[in-house]
Amino acid sequence: MGPSPGKTARIVVIEDEPDIRELVVYNLMREGFDVVGIGNGHQGIAEIQRTPPDLVVLDLMLPGLDGLEICRHIRAESRTSRVPVIMVTAKSEESDVVLGLGMGADDYISKPFSPRELIARVKAMLRRGSRSNSIPSENSGPEQVSIGPLSIDAGRHEVRINDQPERFTATEFRLLHFLATHPGRVFTRDQLIGSVIGDGAIVLDRNIDVHIRSIRKKLGCARDMVETIRGVGYRFLDE
Ligand code: CA
Repeated sequence: MGPSPGKTARIVVIEDEPDIRELVVYNLMREGFDVVGIGNGHQGIAEIQRTPPDLVVLDLMLPGLDGLEICRHIRAESRTSRVPVIMVTAKSEESDVVLGLGMGADDYISKPFSPRELIARVKAMLRRGSRSNSIPSENSGPEQVSIGPLSIDAGRHEVRINDQPERFTATEFRLLHFLATHPGRVFTRDQLIGSVIGDGAIVLDRNIDVHIRSIRKKLGCARDMVETIRGVGYRFLDE
């Protein structure tokens, strides 16, 4: 669960570059969070195990124990397995991000980032509460979703844009419904394939990019709601 109402969210920041760590810690504190900044992986894990936080901001490249290993530890321990993790990476490490998401990071942000951007991600993550332990099935979302000009009725298999019905194929519909019911969360192509395979009843064209292109075309004015995260996958806009 995320922090209960009225309780200050506790955030552990694991980052070995002192300047970045201080900047992140300072800005999160200014937002009223209870923040602990730690410079290496082993101490970071010890701190997280001692008192499981509400969220971890985790640098990927750390001396000794890197972000992926820390993420694996967090997920492996029952006390911390549901703690949300935002992975921080350098641009050049983007291919590792796919691995990071596979290892259980919930979101990632690449350097250089503005404090404002990080705070927005942190708040969005805390609003969503703790992660589920697995990728939710496509049936886990609500029957009806309404975001901006887009409304989806899963029961009726119907999508409307500005109240105008639009036809989507079964795969497109599953993908769109899955993304729209998990706003703000980044999914790799493999995760998206997993989300639409379901019980295996449909024969799936595994080329997610083709489906997304077609979905965007049909979304028209709402096309920007499906964001491409370069080198990683896709995300549905959070607001
Ligand atoms: Ca680093």
